[in-house]
Amino acid sequence: MKNFQKNTKPEIVVRTILFKKGYRFKIHDKKLPGKPDIVLPKYNTIINIHGCYWHYHGCNRSSIPKTRTSYWINKLENNKKRDFQNKRKLLRMGWRVVDIWECTLKKKDLKNTINKLERMIAA
Ligand SMILES: [Zn+2]
Repeated sequence: MKNFQKNTKPEIVVRTILFKKGYRFKIHDKKLPGKPDIVLPKYNTIINIHGCYWHYHGCNRSSIPKTRTSYWINKLENNKKRDFQNKRKLLRMGWRVVDIWECTLKKKDLKNTINKLERMIAA
């Protein structure tokens, strides 16, 4: 459970595409709050890829289990709170922070999502 956020599949999808496009980045930089998934120093940009379930997106991939419901709500809301606090810290440090949700990486949406990401990186 400890490493559930590391090297998840959606993250690898994004990393592979960026790398092929020629971007160079660091991953899980321990010196930064929340060990961001992807750090692009050249563009002063951080990308965090969130699994919809664990980060409580609110889309249809983030439904709450029917048992021990309050335990899960609490746990997932804490994840979300922590994401928010880390993001705020990073913004204060002067980074641009881009969030990508797992549900926007489905095959039919992938191209759009990456285009949007590239526009943000270049902005
Ligand atoms: Zn989602």
